Amino acid sequence: MVSLLNRFLLLFLSLNLNLAGWAQSEPQVVSSFTIPNEWVGQVTSRKTAHSALIPSGGELHGYALNATDSRTLARAKLIVGINPELEPWLADWAQANRREKDLLWLYPDPLPSGSHLWTVPAEVKRMITRLKKGLDSAGIETSESAVGQLLKDVDAVEKDVRDTFAPLPPHARQFVTQHPGLESFAEAFGLKVAGSILQCSSAESADPSAKHYANLLKSIRTQKVRVILSDEGQNPAAAQQLAKDAGLKAPTAVSFEYLQKPGTPGDTWASMMRLNARKLADALQQP
Ligand SMILES: [Zn+2]
Repeated sequence: MVSLLNRFLLLFLSLNLNLAGWAQSEPQVVSSFTIPNEWVGQVTSRKTAHSALIPSGGELHGYALNATDSRTLARAKLIVGINPELEPWLADWAQANRREKDLLWLYPDPLPSGSHLWTVPAEVKRMITRLKKGLDSAGIETSESAVGQLLKDVDAVEKDVRDTFAPLPPHARQFVTQHPGLESFAEAFGLKVAGSILQCSSAESADPSAKHYANLLKSIRTQKVRVILSDEGQNPAAAQQLAKDAGLKAPTAVSFEYLQKPGTPGDTWASMMRLNARKLADALQQP
């Protein structure tokens, strides 16, 4: 009898918890895209609802907010972005809606050029520390031990990625990218971006000018570049044409831009970094 009563009590309690969970399902913390959103999930408690505006596979640079995004942002307690130059649409929204005090930039300073800073482990650790402080100030519960674990995971990724590129001789460490952004990553791991097909990340669909294209071809030849990268999910036509004209193998598609859908390789920051570093190293290593 007692156990039956207990079971009823448990059922009642779990229903209540579910209702509480349902009431809280509005995201408290809204991030611009999948990468900061994963960090929010890792350092807050399970009951903190969080979401990303741009879903997996979405393009960060040219994003335009829709009406649903606006409503989601309006209800958020804290909004997280990387940098106002990278996510100008988020800065504009916060200004127009007087929510700047609730917008936490993980890298608020002017961006160094070539700056997808979430690909640089030392910067990621600074961003995570800043995120914890911002969440704490907003009264959102964080876990000291989860933050500690995450920082350790970043160190482990840094070591693995370093090991991945270690066998490459100095002349096999350069590549051309589809859009600017990997220069800081390259610098952190002893690699070199020899050029970028698009000159600006905010215009990922625009084609390069004839002059820029000719200069790229020239630097590929003089610097003996053998690898061209294309952006996964973006039109690779220009990268394919460049590879053809330069007499190189087809471009290698990478994505350091977002996390893959849950359950697929690259669905966490750590696996995204390891996966893309592996792809890049394999391309650079090919004879
Ligand atoms: Zn980018």
